Amino acid sequence: MRKRILIALLSITVAGILLLALLFTDVFYQNNVDAAERQLQIYMNFFDASAPFTQEEAESFSQKTDGARVTLMEADGTVVADSYAPVQGETREDREEVREAIENGEGYSVRESGTVGENMIYYCVRIDGQGGALVRIGMRLDTGVSFFVDALPTVIWFLVLDILCCLVFAWLATSAILKPVENLTKELASSASGSEIRTKYSELKPIAKMMNDMSADIGDKVARIKEDNRIEKLVLDSMEHGIAIFRSPSDVILINKTAARLLSYEENEPIPLFTEDAEISDLLSAGESASVYRTFGEKDYNFRFTMGDPNVLLITDVTESMAAARSKNEFIANVTHEMNTPLTSIKGFAELIAAGAVPPERIQGMAKTIIKQSDRLANLIRSIINFSAIDSDELPDYEVDISELIAELIGGFEPKLRKKNIALRLNVEQGVKVMSRRERLVEILNNLITNGIRYNKEGGTLEISLSGGDRPRLTVQDTGIGLSEEDKTRIFDRFYTVDKSHNGSGGGFGLGLAIVKKLCRRAGWELKVESTLGEGTAFTVVFCPKNEN
Ligand code: ADP
Repeated sequence: MRKRILIALLSITVAGILLLALLFTDVFYQNNVDAAERQLQIYMNFFDASAPFTQEEAESFSQKTDGARVTLMEADGTVVADSYAPVQGETREDREEVREAIENGEGYSVRESGTVGENMIYYCVRIDGQGGALVRIGMRLDTGVSFFVDALPTVIWFLVLDILCCLVFAWLATSAILKPVENLTKELASSASGSEIRTKYSELKPIAKMMNDMSADIGDKVARIKEDNRIEKLVLDSMEHGIAIFRSPSDVILINKTAARLLSYEENEPIPLFTEDAEISDLLSAGESASVYRTFGEKDYNFRFTMGDPNVLLITDVTESMAAARSKNEFIANVTHEMNTPLTSIKGFAELIAAGAVPPERIQGMAKTIIKQSDRLANLIRSIINFSAIDSDELPDYEVDISELIAELIGGFEPKLRKKNIALRLNVEQGVKVMSRRERLVEILNNLITNGIRYNKEGGTLEISLSGGDRPRLTVQDTGIGLSEEDKTRIFDRFYTVDKSHNGSGGGFGLGLAIVKKLCRRAGWELKVESTLGEGTAFTVVFCPKNEN
């Protein structure tokens, strides 16, 4: 601004000074011409009109008039005598002053003399007493340019002075104008956010008001942006998925808590996984969107990279879905395996019989084996169907008298109990009722009692206890082989059997307890196992009412 004011001031004043200088030059010049004209008139008054027109007269008159140029001419402008140059005989009729004098009796002209070569002022008079002869007096006259050149040093001094004045004035003026604005700017810079800016200058009050309004508006916007950011961060951080937005391993734009934890992210440090994991590092270099799976501790994660500008990484915990997929595969493998054994033996025996390669006395034995293996296969299929059916069982609950159910079922186990010489103790409270379905409770009781006999010792004891109340409790306790600590945690897994040698003989397929557990979980009942290896096992089901869960 200072510079602009200075330039404007300088331009105006320099132009003014130059214009004035020209104007004064012109005025002085005109004055000079006027003075010269008067001087020439005075000189002319001294000319003796009766004197002869000779060279001597011209020179003598020139001396009287301070050395002015005196030209004496005939009435037609032919030079008779000239005090400056021998131009006798030449005509000066074409000269302006001469022409005017011939026509009007007198004439002036200012011009550069062709004879003398200098700027001259001429005054020519017609002397009627001498037949219209002409007398001309001329004297040197400074030109306008020479006036200006003479004045130039003064003009330059003025210009220098003008520049200095302009500098000082521009400085003072701009300081005076800018100071309030500078003060306002300072106040704006130093004012705490939210505080009002004031000015004592009325001209600046609208600006101050505008600034205050803008500052309030900006303050609101910043607060809103901050709040949005806070909420965004809250949302991102509360997500169980990890999310990271980045340009390169060390240029991370946004990362939520889950991703930061999984990627061991440290601010201003490259993400280790992106540089150390060869597959991910290659993937990032190639810039192609892709998915990779990684395991951290006991969890499996899917890393989905969407490459662009910037890149986005979404980390999803896929532990459950992968476990489900694994468990499905395991389940299929187990089922296939469990089916294979009886099927192979059925097929083998049937082929032998069909080929007539079995002596008649052994056919009956083989047929019994085929029937036994078929029963086993049917049991397996029934167990699998039961196990799977639990998930889709949406049939309504009703009150089942579990005390009665135990009494009904227990008769069916008599042969097995007797076979192993197992003593049965019933400690059943009568009239205990549970909200469920009969077939579900039958499944639970059958499995627990079968195991209590199957894994009991010869001559052991099997105790079935049932107590009522708000939370009826069923315990099936045996004095059998018991379970190790590790087996206690695994017996509820599908197809898990402690002693694999049971498989294919009297043992089950490891589905019984898995079915019990699934039924209890769906009903919200508690299932506990207490066991000491070699001493016996107790399974307890606590029938918690549904509203407790
Ligand atoms: P299975 O049909 O093989 O009995 P379960 O799911 O009922 O399958 O039982 C799983 C495994 O748990 C059994 O193979 C057995 O090793 C163990 N088990 C179950 N009940 C008892 C028990 N009362 N005493 C000792 N071990 C048991």
